[in-house]
Amino acid sequence: MTQQTDQFKKVISHAKEYGFVFPSSEIYDGLSAVYDYAQNGVALKNNIREYWWKAMVQLHENIVGIDAAIFMHPTTWKASGHVDAFNDPLIDNKTSKKRYRADVLVEEYVAKIEAKIEKEVQKAAKRFGAAFDEAQFRATNPRVLAHQENAEAILKRLGQSLEKEDLADVKALIEELEISCPESGSREWTDVKQFNLMFGTKLGASADTAMDLYLRPETAQGIFVNFLNVQKTARMKLPFGIAQTGKAFRNEIVARQFIFRMREFEQMEMQFFIPPGTQKEWYAQWKENRMKWHLALGMGEEKYRFHDHEKLAHYADAASDIEFRFPFGFKELEGIHSRTDFDLSSHEKFTGKKLQYFDPERNENYVPYVVETSIGLDRMFLAVFSNSLTEEVLEGGATRTVLKFPYALAPNKAAVLPLVKKDGLPELARTIVEDLKWDFQTVYDEKDAVGRRYRRQDALGTPFCITVDHQSLKDQTVTLRERDSMEQKRIAIQELKAIIQAQVSITSLLKQI
Ligand code: ATP
Repeated sequence: MTQQTDQFKKVISHAKEYGFVFPSSEIYDGLSAVYDYAQNGVALKNNIREYWWKAMVQLHENIVGIDAAIFMHPTTWKASGHVDAFNDPLIDNKTSKKRYRADVLVEEYVAKIEAKIEKEVQKAAKRFGAAFDEAQFRATNPRVLAHQENAEAILKRLGQSLEKEDLADVKALIEELEISCPESGSREWTDVKQFNLMFGTKLGASADTAMDLYLRPETAQGIFVNFLNVQKTARMKLPFGIAQTGKAFRNEIVARQFIFRMREFEQMEMQFFIPPGTQKEWYAQWKENRMKWHLALGMGEEKYRFHDHEKLAHYADAASDIEFRFPFGFKELEGIHSRTDFDLSSHEKFTGKKLQYFDPERNENYVPYVVETSIGLDRMFLAVFSNSLTEEVLEGGATRTVLKFPYALAPNKAAVLPLVKKDGLPELARTIVEDLKWDFQTVYDEKDAVGRRYRRQDALGTPFCITVDHQSLKDQTVTLRERDSMEQKRIAIQELKAIIQAQVSITSLLKQI
């Protein structure tokens, strides 16, 4: 087993064992690519959502939030282009009968070439030691350059074929690259076909009056159709944004990699309405702003990179992904898209209603342009969770498993532990919980030896453990243990709240942006 898959398996099993993520309807053997968030998972997810919401809505005077319904008038999806163009190119392997996304097969092939480049770099770094100049090596080494050129040529051809909807060429590319089915090893492929990702359902009771609906595949359209309502009632002037978090549904062909690609998931999107012609600057600004939001979490700059798109979606004039290094490699975490006036103009056409803004400075009416930021909450959860899961070897050889969550995102901020279950220690511990619980999620734990309780809280990612012992009864002090350093300090009980609060609040995180 490779180190990567091994680490990813640990992520999935830890998420289940410690009450973060369960497979949906597990007693019925689960439902493919659908998951439930458990008692600790829901807290982590809520904290991520709160961090995003506050960064967008609370910190920006010109961004407001809404919560639109999942069901929308079906013509919405005609106008948005999803009925005609929200397709993935799929291909079946004739031997294994497995279905794949044709573009993903090619991208995985390219990822292998990129892995070869990284290997070359690592080998050279070892050979040259301190004198190694990585940038120069990447720019001049013939083997690296050849791999690079090959990877770029393949991606370019894939992008062009998809752009032209030349599915025969996508198949030809798969055959030329001799890509085989990961399951059967066979190279017997069907033709590439388009597959619409929207889930259909019906509204209404009787067969003849029922209306065909879709479960929304993105939250963005709920914002576009409310653009004028919000602009008028909130008296917003351009540029301004509308933010929303909520469920989206996609019938993904290849739904795997745990909560990375789900059929029911949650998005956090913000559409920023701007005057036409200013999209380049706003696109650059939102790219930068969103990257700062990620970096403020302190998970390491090297974990992120931008990937600017060659192949643009039907609505975009520029698009970039913020990719994160998941246990299975760099993958899209968030998209920043310059969506032009595509959506609003299209809704104008389909509804016959004007969706325009009167710009007092330009003294004209126009359909605003839009730059959007769109991040999957579940993917962000996976990024935080997988990055935080750490196994440490301690002095003496024992190991401890720690979820090193950014403090503000941790499900529980403090655990209060009476050293023993007698002599009035539980009672004092309870009064501390009673005091702290108004400001942050605090838990009480008295079962097992205190060392085991520390390990349990480490595995849940709790930043602080507060241990109440006999001395506490005498002088009203406790031991405050910090999760990552395991450092222990004697602290007066009345100082606890201020010390912990200063480190665990979302506010402290927001200030890092
Ligand atoms: P991908 O290329 O991975 O399918 P996408 O480019 O279709 O993603 P967008 O339509 O830009 O994704 O959606 C914005 C964000 O929503 C993505 O960056 C991702 O974080 C999240 N997202 C999209 N599809 C899924 C899914 N099936 N499961 C979980 N999150 C998703």
